[in-house]
Amino acid sequence: MRNLLALNWKMNKTPSEARSWAAELAERFEEGDAELAVMAPAVTISTLAANLPAGVGLGAQDVSAHDSGAYTGEVSAGMLADLGVGYVVVGHSERRDYHGETDAVVAAKAKQAQANGIVPIVCVGEKLDVREKGEHVAYTLAQLAGSLAGVGADVVVAYEPVWAIGTGKTATADDAEELAAAIRGALEQQYGKRAAEIRVLYGGSVKPDNIASICVKPNVNGALVGGASLKVADVLGMNDAL
Ligand code: PGA
Repeated sequence: MRNLLALNWKMNKTPSEARSWAAELAERFEEGDAELAVMAPAVTISTLAANLPAGVGLGAQDVSAHDSGAYTGEVSAGMLADLGVGYVVVGHSERRDYHGETDAVVAAKAKQAQANGIVPIVCVGEKLDVREKGEHVAYTLAQLAGSLAGVGADVVVAYEPVWAIGTGKTATADDAEELAAAIRGALEQQYGKRAAEIRVLYGGSVKPDNIASICVKPNVNGALVGGASLKVADVLGMNDAL
């Protein structure tokens, strides 16, 4: 399965900055073994659609759980699809923590994405206290079950231990594989044979110098990258390492 390198810019880069970034990438990008896609803030998506080099996919960081209507400030999956978005991150820990998103909301968002031909990247992962109690596998699988309730198999799952996000603390490759294998087992129960085609990503302080050792693990099929997604040089470094 082809690795997916999903770049989560979070709330960074104006449309003008995104245009410069895409131009710099276009000068130096060569499509390699991994699939590359940018998860952009909603307001930079059109700019990126017009400026990303061929072979680089486009994604969003969130989507409404609703179809259309009186939901001030929200962006629907249909709007994203119309801009050429292929992926959307749902259930990132920052949205779960700062916006109170529950597993049920995450599942509703994932279903909206799929109904509009967009592949949801569903994020799960434990906080430090859960890991210290040794409950990280059970916790993450429970979160996964809730977040995938009623969601089809055309999905990507990202395991992102919250204690490793933006902290410089990366889970070891074995920690990532432990959860990725457990997630794969749960996907097999839910989707049967189709689980073999579902990519499971790792996220949390991934950089050019650690990505290869993590993504070489049998159940890890790429990475969701925050901090190291902002500089083109780091992105090229990660793309080359895969
Ligand atoms: P990080 O963020 O790479 O900066 O740790 C990952 C994420 O939150 O998706």
